[in-house]
Parts: sequence; structure tokens; C-alpha cells
Amino acid sequence: MHLGFSQADEAFRQEVRAFFKQEYPADILTKVQNGQQLTKQDYQRSEAALNERGWVAVNWPKEYGGTGWTATQKYIFDDELERAGAPSVIPMGLLYVAPVIYTFGTEEQKKRWLPDILASRTFWGQGYSEPNSGSDLASLQCKAERDGDHYIVNGTKIWTSQGHYADWLFCLVRTDNSGKKQEGISFLCMDAKTPGITVHPIISIDGSHYLNRIEFVDVRVPAENLIGEEGKGWTYSKYLLGHERTSYAHIAGKRADIARLKEIAAVTPGDHGPLLHDTGFARKLAEVEVDLTALEFTALRALSAVASGEAPGEESSALKILATENAQAITELFLEASGQAALPFFEDRTDANWNKNSGIPPFAAPSTAAYFFHRAQTIYGGATEVQKNIISKQVLGLS
Ligand SMILES: Cc1cc2nc3c(=O)[nH]c(=O)nc-3n(C[C@H](O)[C@H](O)[C@H](O)COP(=O)(O)OP(=O)(O)OC[C@H]3O[C@@H](n4cnc5c(N)ncnc54)[C@H](O)[C@@H]3O)c2cc1C
Repeated sequence: MHLGFSQADEAFRQEVRAFFKQEYPADILTKVQNGQQLTKQDYQRSEAALNERGWVAVNWPKEYGGTGWTATQKYIFDDELERAGAPSVIPMGLLYVAPVIYTFGTEEQKKRWLPDILASRTFWGQGYSEPNSGSDLASLQCKAERDGDHYIVNGTKIWTSQGHYADWLFCLVRTDNSGKKQEGISFLCMDAKTPGITVHPIISIDGSHYLNRIEFVDVRVPAENLIGEEGKGWTYSKYLLGHERTSYAHIAGKRADIARLKEIAAVTPGDHGPLLHDTGFARKLAEVEVDLTALEFTALRALSAVASGEAPGEESSALKILATENAQAITELFLEASGQAALPFFEDRTDANWNKNSGIPPFAAPSTAAYFFHRAQTIYGGATEVQKNIISKQVLGLS
């Protein structure tokens, strides 16, 4: 078995690396390095730069504007994007709803939505969770009642990531209450500016505005915005969740973080010399690296399943657990390496000078916010406990 990359793959890697060095907006890389929060315009410019090269829709089929890359090329591209320190694309449009649209949508829907997603003209929000329906998503109650050519939507969605950036929302709505709860759910797309939709911010523990609660009061949505068949939304949502859970790996970003941690720990005093040589810290660092390698192999398996045209299967649950726990472990080590410098807490990180003159080392300043925010990773996209239930039932066949 040969585990290296081919010459063609290595040439592709150099091409991608040169793109991020020479063509990609340098100010966005500086903002990320500086720990600044990115604006919607930053994301739009980032995605536009990728789209100009035809590289924004990495997983889409070529006929819709995707790259048509092999699994290895996709892997190399993600690797180089994260190595360069560029932000990942906002996933809700490009990674989550687009595969549902091109797999289950009508020709009209594909023409209407895919080009705008590709060009970052529209951002999307994911309206799945509700105040009383998270893990038990099928119990959702946001109601869509048919009224001629429209659905009338009433209810609440919560924890909508970047919902305040969204031009469109894809929502799971209840169109029938009579049978099994999964069977009365439909997948409905809505223009976020439709009268009756109100977005309320939720400020999270790291001080950022990322999350939202969205209210729907008598919102009239054209019936042509329904994806697939009424009552089949659960099937489409499960397809989407498979794609969502495989998007958490971020291997190269984690490798870059670990390399940075090693540099920091080599010059940070520990109990007996540099922190890097403290037994406790060194052991945790080694564990994190070993887990990352296991994650990398799991990600490659999932990627090759997608490349051969299959939807990511239940193994995406294992990937989600590994990826998110690993990300959290890395933030814990940054916090540990920051020591007391992690104590000051900076809520507003929008300005370029947010950390100037604070006396806090640049690596330590964002550590606390990152530590807090990444607690959410084992909750969103389906909590770890729920992923374990899926693995035990659907992978291991346990009841
Ligand atoms: C930062 C962030 C971003 C998010 N973004 C979005 C988004 O864009 N769109 C969206 O729709 N949703 C989003 N969510 C919501 C997310 O999907 C839910 O929070 C998640 O599914 C858990 O639901 P819940 O919060 O209602 O917790 P609950 O379902 O109430 O769970 C509470 C606890 O009980 C455990 N638990 C529940 N059921 C079981 C069970 N059967 N077996 C064992 N343990 C169980 C859970 O693991 C958890 O620890 C986001 C959440 C966060 C934190």
C-alpha cells in the first residue's frame, strides 16, 4: 500500500498554496491571525476570491459549478486553506443546503438558488432547533399550514448560527400532526426578509453575537419553496446532517494550532523548566496529537465515501465526536499555556487594535473566548450523547 501523494497531487498542493499567498485577500488572513471577528463582508470577499478560481463549492458536482475534485484534492485544498489561516466558508449555504437542493430540489429551485449561493450573493441560516426540540428534533412544532399557493408559518427557531447574516433560511416545519412525528415534517426555504420573520440576537458566553432566536408570525411562504415532497423533510434533513457532521474535522487548522502550542509552551515557564517538558502538559499534548491522527484517518474514510457518490453514513457521528472533543482539548491547552494571562476577557474583537496595549501576549488574548465558544462544539450538530446513541444503534447494531 502506498500512502504518499502523487506528483500531480503535490503540484496541485503548490498551486493552492501559491493562490493563498498571492491572490487571496491578505487583510482577511491578517484579521484571522489577529484574533479579530470577521464581518459578513469579510466572508463574502473570502468566498468571492475562492469562487473566482472556481474553488468555493468543493463538494458540489461539476454540473452545478463544483470543482469535480478527487477526494485527495479536496483534502489537500482544505489542508492548504487552514494552513494559510483562511476562514472556512460559511457552511449553511455551500455545505448544508446546497447538496439538499441539487439532490432533491426541482430544476427551477436549482436555477433559482444555487448560482446565488455559489457567488455568495445569498447567505443561508439553518432553522432546525426549537426551544423544546433540540436532540429530539422530530418533536419540532413550528407549523406550516397550506393556504392556496402558500404556507403560513408560525413558531420559533433557536440557536440559528449567523442567522443575522442570513438572506434565506431553510427550515424544518410541521405540516402534519396526525401520524408518526417524523412523517409530518417538511423542508421549507424562506426569504429572511418576508414580513412576520423577526431575528433576535443571543449573546453567547464568549461575548460574541453568533446565535439568534427567530420568530415566525403568520409568515406567508410560496409553496414552490418546499423542497421535495411534503412530509419527507426528515429524510432530507438526515441527508444534510451527514454532510454537516463530516464538515467538523478541520485537520490542518488543528495541526497548525498544535504547532503553535508547542512554540508557546517551549518559551512558557513550567514547574521545572519550559512548560513543554512538564510531564502533565506533555502527556496531554501527545494525547491530542494522537487523537488528531485518528481523526484524520476517519475523515479520509468519510471523504472517500462522499467522493464515490455515497451520502456520509453513520460513521460521520464518530467523526463528529472525535473532531469536536479534539478541538476542545486544544483550547484547554491554550488556556493552560496562557496561565494568568488568560484571565482578562475581551468581548469586543471587531476593531483591528482590540489587543494593542493590553500587556497580554497575542496568543493568550483570544484563548478564553475560544475556550468558551468551543464548549458548544459537542452540542451543536447533535450533542455527543446523541451521536453515541446513533453509533450504538446504527453502527454497532445494539438496541
Ligand atoms: C453554538 C451553537 C450553534 C448552533 N447552531 C444551530 C443552527 O444554526 N441551527 C439549528 O437549527 N440549531 C443550532 N444549534 C442547536 C443545536 O443543534 C442544539 O443545541 C442541539 O441539538 C442540542 O439540543 P438542545 O440545546 O435543545 O439540548 P437538549 O436536546 O435539551 O439536550 C440537553 C442534554 O441532554 C442530552 N440528551 C438529550 N437527549 C438525549 C438522549 N436521547 N440520550 C442521551 N442524552 C441526551 C444532550 O446530549 C445534552 O447534553 C446550535 C447550538 C449551539 C450551541
